[in-house]
Amino acid sequence: VLAHEVPAKDPYLEISDLWKLYGDFVALRDVSLKVEEGEFVCFLGPSGCGKTTLLRAIAGLDLQTRGTVIQNGQDVSNLPPSRRDFGIVFQSYALFPNLTIRKNIAYGLENAGRSKEEITVRVTELLDMVGLSEQGNKYPAQLSGGQQQRIALARAIATSPGLLLLDEPLSALDAKVRVHLRHEIKELQRKLGVTTVMVTHDQEEALSMADRIVVMNHGVIEQVGAPTEVYKNPASLFVAGFIGEMNQLEAQILSENRLRIGKHEFECRDHDFDPGTTVVAAIRPDDVVPHGSDFVPDAGAKNCELVRIGDMEFLGSFWRCHLISDDFHGAELIADFSVNAVRRLSLATRQ
Ligand code: ATP
Repeated sequence: VLAHEVPAKDPYLEISDLWKLYGDFVALRDVSLKVEEGEFVCFLGPSGCGKTTLLRAIAGLDLQTRGTVIQNGQDVSNLPPSRRDFGIVFQSYALFPNLTIRKNIAYGLENAGRSKEEITVRVTELLDMVGLSEQGNKYPAQLSGGQQQRIALARAIATSPGLLLLDEPLSALDAKVRVHLRHEIKELQRKLGVTTVMVTHDQEEALSMADRIVVMNHGVIEQVGAPTEVYKNPASLFVAGFIGEMNQLEAQILSENRLRIGKHEFECRDHDFDPGTTVVAAIRPDDVVPHGSDFVPDAGAKNCELVRIGDMEFLGSFWRCHLISDDFHGAELIADFSVNAVRRLSLATRQ
């Protein structure tokens, strides 16, 4: 080992070759994953893909059929939840209805045998941290859903666990509160530096909160990567279709960077397919841009195709346009055009 080589730090959480079977049904198939200390990782995938099963295996709430879970250097694979180091927030707020907010937050601290004075100080600090200092003496039913979820979060981090597990913590809330809380949870996580694993089926939530996204399907991990990575370079058609909108058009490979869709040739990313191979060309709607103010391609414009605009949906910051080309095997192409681009196009058609 050379003097300047810094040995790689062990991951905080390491899941190896994990399987979970329910009878004959395989809920997790040979899942392996490393999570670094302080990272925010999201498990994302459709209903039934195994996200919750994986989270529960990490917590020890359900034991895996095979495989290991190492947390902070310790093999916790067969430890009961009470002997593992985590805080958890569930979708349903799961606060104790008959205890005040302060008592709810104090629960774990009391179990850990902390002194009364210490608990009072810590609960006050946590209430302040989640912006609910005034609500300590109320009962859960007197708070809104968003406030209850903030309390659940405060309770989960009360004993400063090494790992925070979030099981769809926002999905029971209405859209506006959800977006607001996303931001708050992320801020808090950054401030505390606590390693966090969140389960969600909401791609926007995962894209906006995670350092890395683990995309799952049918009990296997399809891809692990930063949000921009899984969005820009999806590893499979499933990931391409699951995260964001994606046009998928049948195409034939012509060379290492050209392909044909219908009657037209386009440039594409470098690849290893042989010429003549039939593939699926995946094109993001926001990568489709209108060229030329009067439908004549700009000089030097690549991949130009003459299309008609069919339906248009106004989605606030952009228009989702359904483009039709007779030469695309009759397939429709979805394009997200900025409001300005559409203004330019409609001016052009009026002239
Ligand atoms: P959702 O978003 O709907 O919660 P998920 O990705 O979290 O989905 P899991 O709850 O992990 O999915 O379930 C994975 C698969 O395992 C599902 O097909 C589910 O039906 C099955 N499963 C989960 N728990 C059990 C159980 N106790 N007995 C039998 N099958 C189960």
